[in-house]
Amino acid sequence: MRYALSAPSDSFAFADKDIIRDQWRVTTPGLKLKDGVVTGDGPISRFELLITPDLAEVDRIYMGLSRTGTGFVLYGPGLKGEDISTSLRAEIDGASAAVPSSDAIDGYVFVGPKDYVTDYGDSLVIAPPQLASELDQSIRNDFAGSRAFYRSRLGIAPTLKPVLVVSVDSPGPSTFRGDVTDTGVISLRFKGEEWRSAQEEVSPFVWHEAFHLWNGHGVHNRDGDTAPWLHEGSAEYAAIAGPVSSGGMSEDQARERMSDKVNGCRRAFNSTGGRRPALKSGSAVYDCGTVIQWIADMELRQAGQADFFALWGRMLETARGREEGFGTAEFLAALTDASAVHLVLDPQVEDRWGRIQGRMADLGVRVVNAPSDQELMAAALFHVAKANCLRGSYGFYNEPGALKLDGENCGPLSGGPIIDAVEGLNPQEHGRAMFDAVKERCAAAQSVRYRTRDGRTLEAVCPTELPVPQAWRIVEAPAFGR
Ligand SMILES: [Zn+2]
Repeated sequence: MRYALSAPSDSFAFADKDIIRDQWRVTTPGLKLKDGVVTGDGPISRFELLITPDLAEVDRIYMGLSRTGTGFVLYGPGLKGEDISTSLRAEIDGASAAVPSSDAIDGYVFVGPKDYVTDYGDSLVIAPPQLASELDQSIRNDFAGSRAFYRSRLGIAPTLKPVLVVSVDSPGPSTFRGDVTDTGVISLRFKGEEWRSAQEEVSPFVWHEAFHLWNGHGVHNRDGDTAPWLHEGSAEYAAIAGPVSSGGMSEDQARERMSDKVNGCRRAFNSTGGRRPALKSGSAVYDCGTVIQWIADMELRQAGQADFFALWGRMLETARGREEGFGTAEFLAALTDASAVHLVLDPQVEDRWGRIQGRMADLGVRVVNAPSDQELMAAALFHVAKANCLRGSYGFYNEPGALKLDGENCGPLSGGPIIDAVEGLNPQEHGRAMFDAVKERCAAAQSVRYRTRDGRTLEAVCPTELPVPQAWRIVEAPAFGR
């Protein structure tokens, strides 16, 4: 990268402080880059910057530079100077392309082989030849299908001609990740071939990112940083209701997906002792965000007042013409004060999940408690650990073939032993039977016996009843498709 400043300056500071720049280096002699600021001995009028691709995906942060085949995706806003106007121009040869060609500084820009680019008239798709054809095909289909669906149900078109850039060169750790920038460029990054073990996730992933063309860009989302559950939850819910409506997902699959969201959200509440978690990072943003949109959709439909898509279409259309854009206030204003979304959002609610279950029943949702073997195993291990670990944190690592306890102040369970059996049962293979055995011991206030891999038997106290963990399976719900 070559920077030319319009006037010499003592330093050059990057405007965006979140971008990871530990792989960036100023190659101009006498200058250095530290904490997002370029400095030198005298005034700076130009400098050269060497940028290499980010080494990892990081939650809620754009990639400064990522690879796709022999091309690159650069994040323009990461190059902007503080308090100065910055423009970005690519110098390319005849075999290369830079997309988009204007306003590149405001979003992702692809720079690489021209023949990666397909122009569909209303959109561009950029993909390297090493992308497996079945993945390539399903992404192109879902990208076109999702946009046609959203356009018709939201009643508004995206503000820009969208560009989708696909990469199979993500450094991970996520199997795949994507994001959308203000210029209408979506970057989907897959970590090699790992998507093959999560194929059913690819289509909802594309639908999710495509929804951000409407709810994330071309409008101002006031609460994007403080309440990401709003834009992430709606994209995630659209990626269920949309595919079901257009035949790419069954109602059964949708109920199963939603069950996972509800249980994930509930776990986040459990880990904060029942108080509402911040919902600003991690999977709770998506899980609880989706549950909120689902409840809103069911309430609107039951009241005969349109639905999720109509609400979002109206809200986004209004927001496009306004400086203040949209935020949680507009979303909540579309619902009644008595809406069950407040049972999810309020900081403290007595019997929160019991009441949510009751309200969902009124909306036609029936759930059964169906914890999996693994959830039962985890509940039993945590229950006994809680009685034995007197201070500090505790837990376990569920590595394949080696269940290892964690916790330093856990009496007989201290020291990270690998456990082969609890009450004579392998916890990883017989979670349910092991849960039942532990439950019986605890009910009689008897010790629970752990057999370690190195042949010892540890006796842990269990003075209180072991409750059955709650993990709902949605067996009946109003149709997700429409
Ligand atoms: Zn998203």
